Amino acid sequence: MVKKAYKYRFYPTDEQARHLAQTFGCCRFVYNYALSTKKHAYFDHKRKIKTSELSVAITALKKEEGTAWLKDVSSVPLQQSLRHLDAAYKNFFEGRAKYPTFKKKHKGQSATYTDNAFTWRGGKLTLAKQKDPLNIVWSRPLPKDTRISSVTISKDPSGRYFISLLVEEWIEPLPLTEKVVGVDLGLKSLLIPSDGKTIANPKHLHSYEKKLAKAQRRHAKKKKGSKNRDKARKKVARLHAKIVNTRRDYQHKVTTRLIRENQVICLEDLHVAGMLKNHCLAKAISDVGWGEIRRQLEYKAAWYGRTVVIIDRWEATSKTCSACGYNLDILTLDVREWVCPGCGVCHDRDINAAYNILAAGLAVVSACGENVRPVTSKGA
Ligand SMILES: [Zn+2]
Repeated sequence: MVKKAYKYRFYPTDEQARHLAQTFGCCRFVYNYALSTKKHAYFDHKRKIKTSELSVAITALKKEEGTAWLKDVSSVPLQQSLRHLDAAYKNFFEGRAKYPTFKKKHKGQSATYTDNAFTWRGGKLTLAKQKDPLNIVWSRPLPKDTRISSVTISKDPSGRYFISLLVEEWIEPLPLTEKVVGVDLGLKSLLIPSDGKTIANPKHLHSYEKKLAKAQRRHAKKKKGSKNRDKARKKVARLHAKIVNTRRDYQHKVTTRLIRENQVICLEDLHVAGMLKNHCLAKAISDVGWGEIRRQLEYKAAWYGRTVVIIDRWEATSKTCSACGYNLDILTLDVREWVCPGCGVCHDRDINAAYNILAAGLAVVSACGENVRPVTSKGA
């Protein structure tokens, strides 16, 4: 059984929209309150605050006059906000994300309800403290007879509402295949697999980015507080959402294909966070979303019975000959092709690197024996 999320758009009634706005506000308040409490306790007294302590503090706030409005919304999403903050800290400490920041009113909003805070009957979903079911556009079918373990309601900065349902699903592993692949991260291309089927960046992304830059300039010129400025802000937000969606769709296509075609997929541990500090490479790398691709490959491998091997970061992947093992002294970034002085083979820089990653990954697999589960080895 795996947990899978299904996301749909929905259209709230005026009353639901008002209630959701209140819920989002309370969730944001709880998140920010918890973050500031944790920060102060740590920086002033070197003390760590547990989620259970925060939970008690929130209950106390509901009894205080100034913050009694917290009682007007379901307590479940408020508790979930504390959990989200917990996850944000965990991601920070494990090097996957930056330090948590305060939530802002004009950014995207969200609230999560576990299954004790909504009802799901006859294909209708009703949230706690709301009378009517939500008007959801079922743009793709939800698997039949599944249990919905939680739902997350969100509103994006352009004002659209979405619901994401987390369901438990049984996934049939894919039939075994003999194919194995090493994948190198490209900058011009998105990914370079050792089978030579180079994966380009999504086509429309660049034109959307141009449009976004233009919309941002227009937004900056509008008078503060004017209706036109708000319109311009929404336009920027819509384009942002478009770019995020385009990129995410494409990443899913790419990772699903790699998983379908290959039994073992070897990647290099790139320490994206560290590389982002390098200014020249930063934009290119954050654009291609390497971390997200790796995340998708890892969970899809677990679903479908494939193996993802992460090899240690290894400086020499580009400048070692994959045919004979000869090591070049230097290989500058502008050299795309080179001839090995050891064996005379002509290499495409990136595909050669992908072959080396594959060889290193397969060495890990054979060292672990037949039954390989996804292996993660920490880079030096
Ligand atoms: Zn060679």
